Amino acid sequence: MPSDYDIVIVGAGILGLSCAYYLKKGNPGKTILVVDRFGDVAQGNSARSNAMFRNTFTSKDNLILSDTSIDFYLDTQKSGVDLGLKKSGYLWVMSEKQFSLNQRYIQKMLDNKIELRTYDNQDLRRMLPSLKREFGESEEAQLMKIPDVGGAAFGVKCGRLDPEKLSRFYSDNFLRLGGKVAFNTNVKSLIAGVDEPLGIEGEPFVWQEGKVTGILAEGEIKGEIKAKTVVIAAGVWNNELLDPIGIDGHVKAKKRQLFTVSAKRSPALQTLLRNGNFNELGVLPFVILPKSGCYVKAVEENSEFWLGCEDEFNRPYYSTPEETLDSCKAEPSYYEQSLYPILRSYFSEFENAKPAQMWAGYYSMNTLDSMPFVFEENGMIIAGGGSGSGIMKGDAMGRIVDAVYREGEHAEAMLYSGKSYAADRMSFKYRSVEREEWVI
Ligand SMILES: Cc1cc2nc3c(=O)[nH]c(=O)nc-3n(C[C@H](O)[C@H](O)[C@H](O)COP(=O)(O)OP(=O)(O)OC[C@H]3O[C@@H](n4cnc5c(N)ncnc54)[C@H](O)[C@@H]3O)c2cc1C
Repeated sequence: MPSDYDIVIVGAGILGLSCAYYLKKGNPGKTILVVDRFGDVAQGNSARSNAMFRNTFTSKDNLILSDTSIDFYLDTQKSGVDLGLKKSGYLWVMSEKQFSLNQRYIQKMLDNKIELRTYDNQDLRRMLPSLKREFGESEEAQLMKIPDVGGAAFGVKCGRLDPEKLSRFYSDNFLRLGGKVAFNTNVKSLIAGVDEPLGIEGEPFVWQEGKVTGILAEGEIKGEIKAKTVVIAAGVWNNELLDPIGIDGHVKAKKRQLFTVSAKRSPALQTLLRNGNFNELGVLPFVILPKSGCYVKAVEENSEFWLGCEDEFNRPYYSTPEETLDSCKAEPSYYEQSLYPILRSYFSEFENAKPAQMWAGYYSMNTLDSMPFVFEENGMIIAGGGSGSGIMKGDAMGRIVDAVYREGEHAEAMLYSGKSYAADRMSFKYRSVEREEWVI
């Protein structure tokens, strides 16, 4: 392999690979290398993802990033590429208070032409009969402050996909265009150099234009690899490379866990899974319960549910997580004591259900506003901050990185469906993303 490239991309997750594809497509004459310390595509947090997608956002930035990405994924699958995509919908079940408070956000989304339906308790009784909506004097419900159900909102252009298939789609097309990928290659550090080196020992000096001039690699590729531009798409590991050269990566890692429950031996769970009232697939949509962001995902081909929860308080942040995800494990007690009591309160079908499998990964949280970013700094383009929605915005992010590469931070990126987007909205210097209000 050569040791000199126009662009080196660190990270072969969904984000790095989407960047790789659009950079190569937009700049066919440039030499581009993707490196990753794992042995295949999407083995980091992309592999551990719930991989749900939705366009139901109030923030116009979130909306355009997700909506155009989803359109691209839908059309790609329609063209014959299997992305494991299922448009099964999202159902937010809300307490009376949430339902009432969120009406203005629902209206805002409807005004923005987002396909969103609302259901009252009568509808829910008919469409999702086993959902418990009232808890009366139940001691447990009172202890846990489980609220009665007040209504629900259903997002139509929402569902799930297979992050590995999507990553492989980008990777295959990148390779087909002549890009190079090196797996099992760890980037030990970035090389801090200067724009115009003088060859004097001790460079870069403060009076010189400092820039990252490449990477120091170990593994299948070793030693110094020079690059005119380095794209950092290393997810929760961005800080590992950026901290040592004094650049703020703006991310912190937060653990998230998923648990599967098999429906194979439970007729009640089978009935819950096969619900024909919401989508053409005849399957239960992704259900978010009114308490603690607890959710249920139906995976009909495996006859199972994936279960999770969005815990924030007392769940630590990590600035630089360990190099692999080996010690990032799901906690059985989290299922038993936190998730399960909420779940079986709303769906008695889960009574005594034990997880068959469990795993954990990290959200790459942008703690400023939980929105993704793309910014330029000293010869690098740094992308990340997916904050739990990096898959659903992955296509748009790759296109934005390509636009920033060609035209700088003020580029007007052309997203799928011909929609344009001012890339500097996602930078830090000129940041102007609209905050998200649809947070239940
Ligand atoms: C449990 C869970 C549920 C989620 N649910 C959803 C969801 O429903 N919808 C959604 O859109 N998003 C979801 N996400 C978030 C989504 O998975 C991420 O935003 C997305 O996968 C991030 O992709 P990435 O390419 O930035 O990071 P990663 O997939 O982690 O890729 C980063 C890559 O960089 C490589 N790397 C890092 N440092 C180095 C180095 N020094 N040298 C070489 N290689 C390096 C790593 O090996 C890794 O492969 C979820 C995440 C988790 C953990």
